[in-house]
Amino acid sequence: MSTYKIVIDRSLCSGFGTCAELAPEIFEVGGDGIAEARVGTSDDPAVLEAAAQCPMAAIAVYDLATGEQAA
Ligand code: SF4
Repeated sequence: MSTYKIVIDRSLCSGFGTCAELAPEIFEVGGDGIAEARVGTSDDPAVLEAAAQCPMAAIAVYDLATGEQAA
């Protein structure tokens, strides 16, 4: 199982909340209307789906072991 590092480009986020719907334990839309990661890393594959579904491509996911971008 891979562990993923989650990076949100908050300047791109539109705050629509798709990520928080897909993985509420990992993403939340903060009081400023912009998404933030509740955790820095996760081994939940839902982070890959959230990155893929983000309409603004604001979520980058990296494989912690290899450093390669996974989504
Ligand atoms: S899915 Fe993307 S644009 Fe929407 S709240 Fe999450 S990070 Fe922001």
